Amino acid sequence: MATVKDFSVEEKLSAVLELQKIDSKVDEIKTLKGELPMEVKDLEDEIEGLKTRLSNVNAEIDSISSFVQQKTDTKKDAVAQIKKLEKQQENVKNNREFEAINKEVEYQELEVQVADKHMRDAELELGGRIDVRTRTEAKINNLAEALEAKKNELEKIIAETEKEEAALTRESDKAKEHVDSRLLSAYERIRTSYSNGLAVVPIVRDSCGGCFNVIPPQRQSEIRQRKKIIVCEHCGRILVDNELNNPTEETVD
Ligand SMILES: [Zn+2]
Repeated sequence: MATVKDFSVEEKLSAVLELQKIDSKVDEIKTLKGELPMEVKDLEDEIEGLKTRLSNVNAEIDSISSFVQQKTDTKKDAVAQIKKLEKQQENVKNNREFEAINKEVEYQELEVQVADKHMRDAELELGGRIDVRTRTEAKINNLAEALEAKKNELEKIIAETEKEEAALTRESDKAKEHVDSRLLSAYERIRTSYSNGLAVVPIVRDSCGGCFNVIPPQRQSEIRQRKKIIVCEHCGRILVDNELNNPTEETVD
């Protein structure tokens, strides 16, 4: 599209720099959104995992509870049996019969003791499991709240940025028309080869603003002269001097 062959190097650099600034804003929006969906997904996964854990704990609680119930019944039966045996003992005919019943009573008393021990242990375990359940439920509630907030945030960003992104994309397309076609294809090629999307960078503390390798003073002065397009010899990015990058100190957005 571009038929701007008569532009000076400085004008070409300004145009591509302008384009870079617009595209960087688009990148910023993408980054902003890019992390939220992942965070939402992570939270959903974590909640799912906790729910599985909760249902396992609930199954354990049910199983321990029914074990306790079983032992309660065993004990009740043994106690009833002891009462019955003691009644029988009152009507025994001889010592041998008395002793035989006594043995049976002792056996039933042992049953009661064992049931008591089982119940105590089970109650202890039950307490621990209920504790886990309470903590898991609380954690699920917290995460669900966080998830809700993230989801809202994401929806808000999408709603807010949709227009901005579309407007910036239009701006970018327009800015492209002012960029020298060879420079534009170089720009697009460099931009796609770096994850941060930076193809035009300023000199930052005597270094390339893209790869941070030092730029020799001679080269820096060439860049400042804006007589030819200079790319970083390390990363290939197009270099501009600070004044071109940031003409007025106040407006950096
Ligand atoms: Zn570089």
